[in-house]
Amino acid sequence: MEQVTGPIPIAAYMRQCLTAPDGGYYTTTRPSSDQFGKRGDFITSPEISQVFGELVGVWFLTEWMGQGRPADGVQFMEVGPGRGTMMSDILRTIAQFKSFAKAVDSVWLVEAGQGLRKQQCTLLCGEQSELREVRQSETEVYWEAKSQFGNGIPVRWVEDIALLPKNDTSSPRVPFIIAHEFFDALPIHAFESVAAAPEQNKTQLLDKAGRPMVRQDPASKVPQWRELLVAATRPKIDLFSTSSTGGLEQKQPETDFQLTVAKASNANSLVIPERPRYMKLKGQPESRVEVSPESQRYARDFAQRIGGNLSGQKPAGAALIIDYGPLDSIPVNTLRGIKEHKIVSPFLYAGQADLSADVDFGALADAAIEGSEGVEVHGPVEQGSWLRQLGIKDRAKKLVTNAREDKKGDIETGWKRLVEGGPTGMGKAYKVMAILPENGGKRRPVGFGGDIEG
Ligand code: SAH
Repeated sequence: MEQVTGPIPIAAYMRQCLTAPDGGYYTTTRPSSDQFGKRGDFITSPEISQVFGELVGVWFLTEWMGQGRPADGVQFMEVGPGRGTMMSDILRTIAQFKSFAKAVDSVWLVEAGQGLRKQQCTLLCGEQSELREVRQSETEVYWEAKSQFGNGIPVRWVEDIALLPKNDTSSPRVPFIIAHEFFDALPIHAFESVAAAPEQNKTQLLDKAGRPMVRQDPASKVPQWRELLVAATRPKIDLFSTSSTGGLEQKQPETDFQLTVAKASNANSLVIPERPRYMKLKGQPESRVEVSPESQRYARDFAQRIGGNLSGQKPAGAALIIDYGPLDSIPVNTLRGIKEHKIVSPFLYAGQADLSADVDFGALADAAIEGSEGVEVHGPVEQGSWLRQLGIKDRAKKLVTNAREDKKGDIETGWKRLVEGGPTGMGKAYKVMAILPENGGKRRPVGFGGDIEG
């Protein structure tokens, strides 16, 4: 790709590596094992312990109660469900709460990978199930199968959130949306602030003696955002150089690609929101920022569904975003590759390794609030504290008591890993953020300072 077009934005590189229809990391179906778990490249919280998905289900239950227990119209939506494990744990959990389970009328999954859609279908709808294409209209097309939970509610798949129905106004809708380790896979752009070289003024002024007076254009000193681009490293044939000892030696490029700073500013820098947090950095040359317009698009869509803009109804529902990233700063230099449980250069194994970048929760919150007046944002808070407030310790204790002797150890180490800090713990690096119907901040959701209601 890149050899033909020259350096490309990181976002284009990520999209190509992760979700290109041929050869993308998530869009390629692997014959033996998938991307997740011990034999894959990384393991996620719902794969570590069933307690995780169960408590996410409990959190939505508390929201449903807090919002007046609507009798129907609840739609569960998950973006990037992976193996489908978390949705299956959520649905199994809420099946125990009859009136809540009855209120759920459909499950919508946004998944780019065909092989993963099939895997999710098998888990949620049974071995024999098949995805059936449903063509509601020219623009509304999705795949569908019957869930094995509840009364066989439909599970529906689309490839992008833009393809989810915008909702009709005939019946109230309560969207419960979950994104776990999804936003870190969405493409980012990165920029560096470069102090422009002082230019000579185009219209030359002459001094008394008729000599040109060199005058600097003050505007040209203002730093500019320059995009960081992905360029191919030079082919090996060009890499022979004379070593200090006089012999010819071959320098192996360490990676297939490398980052370069664009020679001029380009229109992509318009994706940087005009907010003080970016403007402050622009004034400090060599500052870098990462920006993900794709992530903002998703956060805006969540907010518009919950805030009522996409259904013409009153605000309802909730979105829960769980991922890794700083609490409030803008991520910098966080693009990385992940292969066989190790962090590798993002410029090796294109399409064969996972690529991810830290999630900018502040940018997601801004996009949500800008997207709809009908929402408010809570968090982000650390995953460990959120899970503890939801009662992970007690739930895990119950599981251990009922488990077979040889399983007890795994349950213990599993739940602890979800809440603990440290190099392998997920409790501090992962954050939880919620988008809720606007409520003047009066009712704090559980895990964000609120209590579980009876
Ligand atoms: N939530 C799961 C999987 C996380 S991996 C878990 O925690 O285990 C990221 C998931 O998002 C995968 O299912 C991947 O196929 C999907 N995905 C990544 N980029 C996507 C995109 N641009 N559009 C839709 N799905 C995407």
